[in-house]
Amino acid sequence: MIDWAFIEQQYQDILSEVSDEEPLSNWAIKPKGLLKTKHKTKYGMADIHGYVYINQAFIGTNSNDLLDATIRHELAHLCVGLQQGHNHVFKAKAQQFKANFRHIDKSQHQQVSANIGYKYELYAQFKDGRQLLLKKVQRKHRKYTHYRPTLFKYLTVQGKKVASFVYQEV
Ligand SMILES: [Zn+2]
Repeated sequence: MIDWAFIEQQYQDILSEVSDEEPLSNWAIKPKGLLKTKHKTKYGMADIHGYVYINQAFIGTNSNDLLDATIRHELAHLCVGLQQGHNHVFKAKAQQFKANFRHIDKSQHQQVSANIGYKYELYAQFKDGRQLLLKKVQRKHRKYTHYRPTLFKYLTVQGKKVASFVYQEV
């Protein structure tokens, strides 16, 4: 089971490995350290100051391969510079750093996603103004954001015509 101490250890181990691969003097941004994030959709991030953020949703999971790939991915961002985005320069570096998300078991993603939790509550709104919570979701869906009921074509919830759908941030 992953805890924060394990994440810090992984970060240190991977950093020393990839800086053997590419000396820190060549890096666009020097790695400064590791921080937690509660981001709702991202596994990790890197910033211009050299910090790597790892989602605290990894804690309590067995998503070791996903954590490994995430740390390598973020370090590759620092190495080539954030302005490169996910272009070919970045991709080559990520490959060199072995940031490989392929072949990672689906359950590793699911464990982290479950911990990240949900970003929005989706409500159905009726003509009389009443709202009913339908579900909690991580992202908005066209089906609901672009919902335009007509006289003959509309969605119903509990047998009632839905006037509109509303996403509320959790
Ligand atoms: Zn990225």
